[in-house]
Amino acid sequence: MDCLFCKIIKGEIPAKVIYEDEKVLVFEDINPQAPVHTLVIPKKHISTLLEITGEDNELLGYLFQVANSIARDKGIADKGFRLVINCNREAGQTVFHVHLHLLGGRTMSWPPG
Ligand code: 5GP
Ligand code: ZN
Repeated sequence: MDCLFCKIIKGEIPAKVIYEDEKVLVFEDINPQAPVHTLVIPKKHISTLLEITGEDNELLGYLFQVANSIARDKGIADKGFRLVINCNREAGQTVFHVHLHLLGGRTMSWPPG
């Protein structure tokens, strides 16, 4: 399967990995949109949010726990941060392997662009 993030998981494409275990990989976004812009991805290939099923309940909860712990490590937990999942084209999804954007280190605007 031709998936960029699966290639990063397999180590075929380099990335600045900051955390890894058997279920998730966390690495720095190549084109950061904030002082902290980290991607939290499941190692299981799931192409979009719409593909999530009941089987993934535990995995998804775990992704949020990992994101929280990275936010704490990066010192943005108390100040505030944003988790974003883009789904499909109009939302701006460009890589079709579900990922949480962990954004922080600056004031965020709302509504998002
Ligand atoms: P999306 O637009 O699908 O929600 O987010 C994809 C994200 O992946 C973008 O923020 C983009 O900068 C990031 N990205 C794309 N290609 C690479 C890459 O090769 N390495 C890393 N580390 N991030 C990437
Ligand atoms: Zn993938």
